Parts: sequence; structure tokens; C-alpha cells
Amino acid sequence: MDLFDFKDGREGYYGQFGGSFLPEILTATVEELKACFHECKKDPSFWAEYEQLMHQYSGRPTPVTYLPNLSKQLGGAQIYVKREDLNHTGSHKINNVMGQGLICQRLGKKRVIAETGAGQHGFATATMAAKFGFDCKIYMGEVDVKRQRPNVFWMENLGAEVVAVQDGQRTLKDAINECMRDWVSNMADTHYVLGTACGPHPFPEMVSYFQSIIGMEANRQIKELTGGRLPDKVFACVGGGSNAMGIFQGFFDDDVELIGCEAGGLGPGLGKHAARLAYSDASVGVAQGFKTFFLQNDDGNMLETQSVAAGLDYIGINPIFAYLWEQGRVRFEAATNEEVRETLKLVMKTEGLIPALESTHAFAKAVEEAPKMGKDEIILINQSGRGDKDIFTVADALDDAHWREFIKEKAAQYES
Ligand SMILES: *Cc1c(COP(=O)(O)O)cnc(C)c1O
Repeated sequence: MDLFDFKDGREGYYGQFGGSFLPEILTATVEELKACFHECKKDPSFWAEYEQLMHQYSGRPTPVTYLPNLSKQLGGAQIYVKREDLNHTGSHKINNVMGQGLICQRLGKKRVIAETGAGQHGFATATMAAKFGFDCKIYMGEVDVKRQRPNVFWMENLGAEVVAVQDGQRTLKDAINECMRDWVSNMADTHYVLGTACGPHPFPEMVSYFQSIIGMEANRQIKELTGGRLPDKVFACVGGGSNAMGIFQGFFDDDVELIGCEAGGLGPGLGKHAARLAYSDASVGVAQGFKTFFLQNDDGNMLETQSVAAGLDYIGINPIFAYLWEQGRVRFEAATNEEVRETLKLVMKTEGLIPALESTHAFAKAVEEAPKMGKDEIILINQSGRGDKDIFTVADALDDAHWREFIKEKAAQYES
């Protein structure tokens, strides 16, 4: 399945979704980016350079791990996990930013900017900028800067400037607007490192291209582990949709069911979740430079979203997924905050893995479906990141008394 062969349709469109809705002033810059990316894509030495970089810098290929204890306890399908948590900086986000770092280098640009909500993408971008020697500015809503201090701490110590955006609701949407303003003013020397498979063309295609390294490895690795078998189902969590696109691309042409797991938050109901497709609350619109399903009200104003996992808390969805969902190629489900908390406890205790809260959404749906499958069937889950970063949220969610004591004592130390 070649989603990026636009011969029969409009370039940058997936069915009716995608496109590029940008201020005209950016046209030349985006054309330059597109041309550079397509040249890289055609050049086999570029992918080889990328793979080598990811091998040396981030420990790729990440392994696939069999989970015998969990499989046995659930009594159904055999469960395997692709370990993106083992990347440098702790998630799949590094795949995209290092790829865009190479592109930025080829473009001859010296400065990168990015927007970030939970801070994970800003952290990865700051890491990449330090490694490549780029100047780096990260835009983040003031509310998120306060909420995500550990990531802000790392970004600043990696040499990035973090701008706390004061406009609007002072969260991700406002950071995106401010970042776009910077790009318009500084496009000659600046590359905008978009963090997920969203935004205007060519970003969905480019981000998917770099993340496809996950699926290529996983296809080969699962066959090695199972005597040549492919999984029956692949589960991945979906925020913007980059890690899921990454692993799914390894299996599009095979008879494998693909399941995207969104943030069900507090359950169905406008404003209570970030499940754009699974709960059918979203509608088609144009925002942030592209056309897709957004969580918005009848006037086109964006709704609040809710999720225990900050990385899934996003109003729009990858336009390629909007298309594949309509085509029936990818099924979408939602896991609620409560399901995620319970699943995290189960996975930690049975297998000693600590998936990120985002990734745990994929585990939750796999854990629900595994018992209904045969013992000879195979599930593959993409563990997009590691959960250590979530210690504050998880400790709160589990209402851990010892942790509360620890935080109080720390705070007291600073007061004295
Ligand atoms: C950011 C993030 C996500 C969500 O982003 P996608 O683009 O949907 O992959 C998922 N998992 C982790 C660990 C993240 O940091």
C-alpha cells in the first residue's frame, strides 16, 4: 500500500483529508522543504545514514519482547511488545526529530523551532539541536511550562530557549500559533520541527517516513521470534498519530488487523476525552494548516480535551488515519483513564515493564481483546515510550502515601 503515491489524487491529500493551508508567505519555504525531503527519500544513502545515526545515537534497532507471564495470565493470544521505550530520551519521538535534523542540515539551516504540549517533543528536539549544533527555541503554553517542569528543566539544560506563551488558554494550541509566527519571520535560516504526523503537507508524510523504521524492524523481528508468523493484531496508541503510523506501516500490505487506541479520558461526552474517531464526537474541519477530524463545537471552536496521558491530549488526528479509518483499514478504540491505570498496574507487576501512560492505552485494549483470541494467535503492541517520566502523575493516580510524604519533605527543604 503506497499512501504517498499521489498519482491519482491531489498531492498531500489522503481522500479528502490533509492538504496544506498556510499563509502564502510560507509557500516558498514549504516547497523547498518538500523538494529536499523528496530528494532524500529517493536517495538510498540518505536512509542508510539515518539508520546508522539511530543505531549509534539511540540504540536502534529496539527489540521486540515476548510477554509470557501476561499472555498466560490472560489465557488467550501470545503478546509481544515493540520496545520504543528503549530509545534515547525514552520514546519514539527521537526517530522523527533526528530525521528532521538531517533534513535541516541538508537545507543548510542553522536554527530549529518546535512547539510542545507535554514537553516530550520539545525535550527530543532540544536533544537533537544539541547534537547537531543548531540554535533551538521551544514554544510552550505558560500553563504547560508550569505543569511539565521536569521536561522544561532538561530542555533548558540541553541549551534550548523555552518560551512560555501567554496568549489564549496558554496551552498547546497557542504554542503552535506562536511557533508559526516565528517561522514566518525567520524562515530563511529556521526549520520548524513538527512533532507528529499532523499539520500541513509534507509533515504527515515526512514524519510517517521517519517513524516507519519502527514497523520495518518489527515486521522482521516478529517473524524471527515466531518462526515466520506475522501478528494477527497490532495495537498502538494515537495522539497525533506518529508512533501508530510508524508501526502500522510495517503491516499495511499484510493480513494483519491494525488497532489505533485513543484517549478515552473520563469516557464519552464532549470535552471529556481526546477520542476523535473512536467516540465519533469529532467533525471534519481545517485548522493548524490541514484538514482532518477535530474535536470542535458547531461554531468550529476547539473543545477542551481530557486524558491522564498528556501526549494523547490533542484535538486533531493524523489525516492519513482519518482516511484509513473511513476506508476501514484501521480500527479505532478508546481506553479510559481508569482502564489505563489498572492496565499499568497489571503490566508492571506481571512483566516488570513500565510503559508510558500514552503507550498504556494500547496495552489496555490488547489486554481486553487477548482473552477472546486463541492461544495460537499473536498480538503485537507498540510501547511508544517509558513511564518513568510519568512518576508524578502515576503516583498521584495510585494515591501513593509514601510519595506524598517524599514531595512534602522535598518542598520543606527548599523553604528552610
Ligand atoms: C507524544 C507521545 C505519544 C503520542 O504521539 P503520537 O504522534 O500519536 O505517537 C505517544 N506515546 C508517547 C510515549 C509520547 O511521548
